[in-house]
Amino acid sequence: MILYLGLGANLGEREKTLRQAIERVKKIPAVKLLRVSSFYETEPWGVVGQPHYLNAAIKISSSLEPLDLLDALQKIEADLGRVRRLRWEARIIDIDILYGAKISCERLTVPHKFLFDRDFALVPLAEIFPSFKFKLHGDEVIRVKGSPTDFNFKLVACVDKNFGLGRGEKLLFKIPDDMKNFRRLTLGNTIIFGRKTLETFPNQKPLDGRRNILLSRTVEKISGAEIVGGVEELFGVLNSAQKNFVIGGEEIFNELIPYASEIFLTVVDVEAEADKFFPAVDEFVLRGAENFGGFEFRRYTR
Ligand code: ATP
Ligand code: MG
Ligand code: MG
Repeated sequence: MILYLGLGANLGEREKTLRQAIERVKKIPAVKLLRVSSFYETEPWGVVGQPHYLNAAIKISSSLEPLDLLDALQKIEADLGRVRRLRWEARIIDIDILYGAKISCERLTVPHKFLFDRDFALVPLAEIFPSFKFKLHGDEVIRVKGSPTDFNFKLVACVDKNFGLGRGEKLLFKIPDDMKNFRRLTLGNTIIFGRKTLETFPNQKPLDGRRNILLSRTVEKISGAEIVGGVEELFGVLNSAQKNFVIGGEEIFNELIPYASEIFLTVVDVEAEADKFFPAVDEFVLRGAENFGGFEFRRYTR
């Protein structure tokens, strides 16, 4: 089931907490994070005299029973330090189910009972749900930097017809035109990759002329590359003014595609026997395809 969640924080390190909360939702088993909105600075609603909020919305698909999902979300709130006392009081993090199903029971009402009264929920929701119909109330909702989508991750890969990436730790293809295109795109920019992808580089060495970031929990040091142990740490070292290219492999694409803004795929017109795959691109729109006979360059954006 597709669901839209709303997140809000007005105590502590709001931006960091929102990013952490989104990462934790992403890691709930049976939940897939599909899309993330910008962050918005908003005025408090319901109870005045508290700090401004940062709000965001996310789109997920979930095969959990809705109440089990609610439990998982409340556990994330508690783990991040939320204490519940008074209604609508200031909080470190709030995660509500906004929209996507009709649910009405003691613990859960969806659509959220105040969704259509709250600009702080409607504006982020509309950003990731363009066909959503609603009316605003003139409350202060200002887009600010800080969402993981502001890193504008660009995914680059070469795949077969079935979006296969590789087999047995090896890439499926070495096509000179594709390699030239990859170099042209990434040169002078940041590349982000996992350990197995590093092992496909010439001499297993970082690539020259680029900022190399290795996302790995096990590798400790390698000359010519920075190492980050996880996605939250990656957010801490990135700069949104850079072009951040995510170049594989499968696991790293899965981790970062929910935050990506653009995808460059070279699709080779064969069916290879892959055991690693590029993730589904359903949340993206094909903006251009150039065929070179045997392979095609494709570009997708949101
Ligand atoms: P509000 O619901 O007005 O946004 P809140 O988010 O601050 O207020 P919480 O303390 O987070 O309120 O939640 C109170 C209860 O609301 C939860 O324990 C939960 O059972 C219930 N609830 C009902 N509908 C929803 C929903 N759509 N999403 C999240 N919680 C819900
Ligand atoms: Mg709420
Ligand atoms: Mg809540």
